[in-house]
Amino acid sequence: MAAHPEPTREAGLAHLSAFMPRAGRNYARLRNFDFGPGRHAQVSGLSPWLRHRLVLEPEVIAQTLGAHGLSAAEKFVQEVVWRSYFKGFMEQRPSIWQAYRRDVAALAGRLEAEPGLRADYDAAVNGRTGIDCFDAWAGELVETGYLHNHARMWFASIWIFTLRLPWELGADFFLRHLLDGDPASNTLGWRWVGGLHTKGKTYLARPDNIAKYTEGRFNPAGQLATAAPPLREEEEHPLMPLPEPDVAVKPQRAGLVVTEEDCAPETLDLPAAPTAEIGLTATAGRSPLPVSDAACHFAHGAVSDALARGAAHFGVEGQQSDPEDWGAALLNWARANDLDGVMTAYAPVGPVAERLAAARATLAENGVSLIQILRPWDKAAWPHATKGFFKLKKQIPALIDAAGLSPSR
Ligand SMILES: Cc1cc2nc3c(=O)[nH]c(=O)nc-3n(C[C@H](O)[C@H](O)[C@H](O)COP(=O)(O)OP(=O)(O)OC[C@H]3O[C@@H](n4cnc5c(N)ncnc54)[C@H](O)[C@@H]3O)c2cc1C
Repeated sequence: MAAHPEPTREAGLAHLSAFMPRAGRNYARLRNFDFGPGRHAQVSGLSPWLRHRLVLEPEVIAQTLGAHGLSAAEKFVQEVVWRSYFKGFMEQRPSIWQAYRRDVAALAGRLEAEPGLRADYDAAVNGRTGIDCFDAWAGELVETGYLHNHARMWFASIWIFTLRLPWELGADFFLRHLLDGDPASNTLGWRWVGGLHTKGKTYLARPDNIAKYTEGRFNPAGQLATAAPPLREEEEHPLMPLPEPDVAVKPQRAGLVVTEEDCAPETLDLPAAPTAEIGLTATAGRSPLPVSDAACHFAHGAVSDALARGAAHFGVEGQQSDPEDWGAALLNWARANDLDGVMTAYAPVGPVAERLAAARATLAENGVSLIQILRPWDKAAWPHATKGFFKLKKQIPALIDAAGLSPSR
């Protein structure tokens, strides 16, 4: 068993500090090389902590700017902002996630009914396709819960264009195993490779590129598709308005809900001091198929760590559970603690947001308001994530300035 990263803020911050010397020009030069399992030191490996917000994007960017300045660390800062871009984009086109959820559920049914599809799928996820690099990455993903970005691109491309498997099943395989499994980055990453994100523009994995960036560990010459015709979909995904934060609601007695979407509760700007605290996870809800123990363990541990910090910071008792029905669980907890408000960090599109949306009505019917707090970073970045990344990329200096992250300050 590979050692997994520790799901605590302390471990994330220590990892960030240790990576800092390599976040400048070194990162720009070496970030595309996948040196293999256990040898990913040229990229940060910060994604499990960032995804669960044990460590926050502005913290990473502030440290990076302090160590290198924007010019030398431009590439690393841009990569961190890609996460904000995908979250903002998905937030404004939520039908992409709904269609993906629907299609994964249908495909899970087809896996039961169609032996041919099942056999091809099993060969892919169990690393038995005969394409050495692909089989190794399938194994690395299951074993470690991580893949290098370039390997994710090659893997998704081979899955779609060489193995001709449905992209949604590949995205689901990632989401079930990645410790950083994220509805926005993952779904949109797969759609980008398949030509559904930037319409008509696909990513073709090429043997010479794989040989170069794996330093000759792999060379699948003659084994890969030589063309990548874009996938097509009938549905349009209209642009929706961004969420209005629930700022107007001022509860008398409010509790704090910590979820796997945001595990830094002590840094939230809350409308009231919490008198109780509860931690909830929705990790199993990432897929109709089983989510890996490692991904569940990381998310659960991240929430436990956040609860402990929140309890110390706010001087309240914290409790944790994994209920299916968040409406009933939150209502019971609100009643037991005499709450008229339930506060939580804004949950972007995904299983947590689905459960919170279902709980909102139950709570409202019983006089308890649900208050979601949008972080300033998201509020500033998301409006620029309506089209391609370039639009947000142009805003990076302004975002840095607005967040007070410039090292000269
Ligand atoms: C098909 C596919 C699926 C993906 N699925 C996920 C996913 O489920 N969860 C996830 O966090 N990332 C996903 N990514 C993005 C990216 O591969 C990972 O964020 C990155 O490899 C994490 O490793 P790192 O922390 O060492 O990255 P670094 O190279 O050190 O980058 C620093 C940080 O920038 C952010 N970042 C870097 N590249 C991207 C990117 N392309 N998109 C969004 N954010 C990025 C991450 O927060 C990362 O931790 C996916 C990419 C592809 C192509």
